[in-house]
Amino acid sequence: MSFGGGPLAGQGILKHSDQRILLIEDSRMFSTALTFGLQTTYGLHVTHCATLKDLEAELQGGEGGFALAVLDLNLPDAPNCQALDLVVAHGIPAIVFTAAFNDRTRDEVMKRDVVGCIIKHQPESIQQVIVLVDRVLTSVGTTVLLAMPDRWERDALAGHLRRQRFRVVEALTGDEVSSMLASGTSVDIVVVDMALGDTGGAALLTRIRRQASEEQVAVIGLGTDPAEAAGFFDRGGNEFLAKPLSMPEFERRLFQVAKIHARVRALHRVAARDYLTDLFNRRYFFETGPRLVERSLSRNLSTCIAIFDIDHFKRLNDTYGHEVGDLVLKAVARRLRSFVGEEHLLARLGGEEFGILFNGLSIEDAGYFCDALRLEIAKTRVLADDEEISITISIGLALIAARESFDNYLNAADQFLYMAKSAGRNCVMSESKMMLLAAS
Ligand code: GH3
Ligand code: MG
Ligand code: MG
Repeated sequence: MSFGGGPLAGQGILKHSDQRILLIEDSRMFSTALTFGLQTTYGLHVTHCATLKDLEAELQGGEGGFALAVLDLNLPDAPNCQALDLVVAHGIPAIVFTAAFNDRTRDEVMKRDVVGCIIKHQPESIQQVIVLVDRVLTSVGTTVLLAMPDRWERDALAGHLRRQRFRVVEALTGDEVSSMLASGTSVDIVVVDMALGDTGGAALLTRIRRQASEEQVAVIGLGTDPAEAAGFFDRGGNEFLAKPLSMPEFERRLFQVAKIHARVRALHRVAARDYLTDLFNRRYFFETGPRLVERSLSRNLSTCIAIFDIDHFKRLNDTYGHEVGDLVLKAVARRLRSFVGEEHLLARLGGEEFGILFNGLSIEDAGYFCDALRLEIAKTRVLADDEEISITISIGLALIAARESFDNYLNAADQFLYMAKSAGRNCVMSESKMMLLAAS
């Protein structure tokens, strides 16, 4: 079980932020216009190569990690698709953008399994490239589960979607779909054939919606009876298409669903994160925390909650300025994230205060964990204005062993935090620690 989610880094809301694109183009006019368009529309990082020689150097010595290449077929030093061959050999999906498109080049391009081809001299061709880049980047990040009983139909659709760079998984029955979702198989969109033998499409949709919300999984129905469409939407379906399918229409509707789905997920991610540190925020902690506590208690497991706060942070702000204060918060957050990992729920609760809801740790183990965390932060040095700043934290730790309100658990931890501050700071305080102190 994991409480975490990856860091938000690179997850723009409406963009493919931080993805890297290779642009291979000798015309200055086109390369400037495309670079500008891709950067401003989608926040992409564009690496430009004007010749085959540049491209070879980039692929050998550069950072790599290109999500996609947009390339001109004819470069001054590569008249015979050598740049395309090189890009394909590196496993980078390619969009060809060329002025010289005749039967011969069409054959050359088709032989190499490119994602798309756009002809340069049309006035709207730059916009077409930008739209296609959006489509490919969306499909590369999307897993489609095809739930279709007919093997021939399923194979045809799977092949087509794989060429569009979707990740495709397949199921023959409704039961298979349910067990895949239950086992945590990563799926973004389920395509459900209404004629599915065991459950039927409509009943399967109801089952899927019990397992996964619209934010988690989008569902597209395929049926021969258009009268089924209304009921399909009412049960929580996202799209319905009549069979026999028009492939170009299916492709575009699937892309629309994939795009909306990716954006809904990105919005949820952003809403759960703290802007400065990229940790989970207070709202997410309060939304998710009670459910996680209930999960532990219903399995008769106790768990623990810790609240911790940077010591004398106001003084740090007053001495070095608010900007340095922000740097310190970010550095502490980075250290916390790597120390806590994804096993426990970590959040910035506000200001210089953080919380951890442990995933079923005993109070003894949580105590050791907190003490190790405290020492780790005390070792951290933040460089600001050529000066090394050190930081300490105080921690309050409370046991969660019975059903109470989530606020009560937090209040208990907060009281121990207050005691840790009174006891001189840079320490962990909990009930057992208080008793030890009282006994000594
Ligand atoms: P203690 O050791 O008792 O915790 O003292 P403290 O100074 O750390 O605590 P106090 O609550 O008095 O001050 C917290 C300060 O944190 C005050 C506030 O301006 C500052 N702060 C809150 N949020 C931010 C932020 O996002 N950035 C920066 N730079 N400062 C912040
Ligand atoms: Mg403080
Ligand atoms: Mg504080």
